[in-house]
Amino acid sequence: MHYRPTDSQPLQPLMPFSGNPLDRASNFRDDDAWVAQQLAAPQSRFLWVSKLEILTHQAATPTLAWVDAEANRELDLESTPVLLGVRDGVAHFAVDVSAIEGPLERLGLQGAAFAEPRGLATTLPAGEAGIVAQARSLLDWHARHRFCGACGGETVPAMAGSSRVCQACGTHFFPRIDPSVIMVVWRDDRCLLGRRRGRPPGSFSCLAGYIEQGETIEEAVAREVQEEATVPVDAVSYEASQPWPFPSTLMIGCFAHAASEDAMADQLEIEEVRWFSRAEVRGALAGDPQTGLTIPAPVAIAHHLIRRWSELES
Ligand SMILES: [Zn+2]
Repeated sequence: MHYRPTDSQPLQPLMPFSGNPLDRASNFRDDDAWVAQQLAAPQSRFLWVSKLEILTHQAATPTLAWVDAEANRELDLESTPVLLGVRDGVAHFAVDVSAIEGPLERLGLQGAAFAEPRGLATTLPAGEAGIVAQARSLLDWHARHRFCGACGGETVPAMAGSSRVCQACGTHFFPRIDPSVIMVVWRDDRCLLGRRRGRPPGSFSCLAGYIEQGETIEEAVAREVQEEATVPVDAVSYEASQPWPFPSTLMIGCFAHAASEDAMADQLEIEEVRWFSRAEVRGALAGDPQTGLTIPAPVAIAHHLIRRWSELES
């Protein structure tokens, strides 16, 4: 078999949206007295999120703009802060302030603004984008799960916001993560990339799709490649993963070895599939316009998977 596993990958370099430095305090968050103490502690830090945009200091290099417990109390919020974790003994919370009109103006906060998370992933200091991913996914989940799927009753946050409980029937609900596979399909010295419907000519990326019920990662990779490009896959290797908080996907990055070269786009999600040589991919990554190939920006795991494949020896 023409399959060559790559070296296992260490945690460095950090994938955008990863590297969250907080200790998630799993063993403490169901202790109501401890949580109440942290919510009131003057040193605790609160990250405001409005309509899923994150409060950041506006500077050449943005940073997360945390407010203290006193500023947070002044907003007089109805929404419960959710615990993100603890660092150096200081609790960190995320707070949905979407219901408040002009929270920054009300408290006279200057030099800070709400920013779209996608743009923050590669501009925040290492690790802070991991906090953004956690906060955005968690608050979005709370906003979408206000009612019980079993009885229709109202749910309320529990365990410092790491779950919700139905007030009518007592069912507990936990935040979901949606696993998705994303892969570089390869054979010999070439890789197969796809152009999604609506993307401009020359704009290619990895094939990808959500894992379905009762499926392994390897089976999902093979099914997606067969569906989107009619290519049979005979070996799959895991490469890297990335949290993608829109709203709560875990991208599982793989290399997939193609058993044959015949490829045809499904014309549904994928308009065009094409084999590219390693030299073409290296050229595109170096910004050579003559390749006519554009690959995704470094915010996306697709960029890193394609780059890693391109750096392998032929
Ligand atoms: Zn219920």
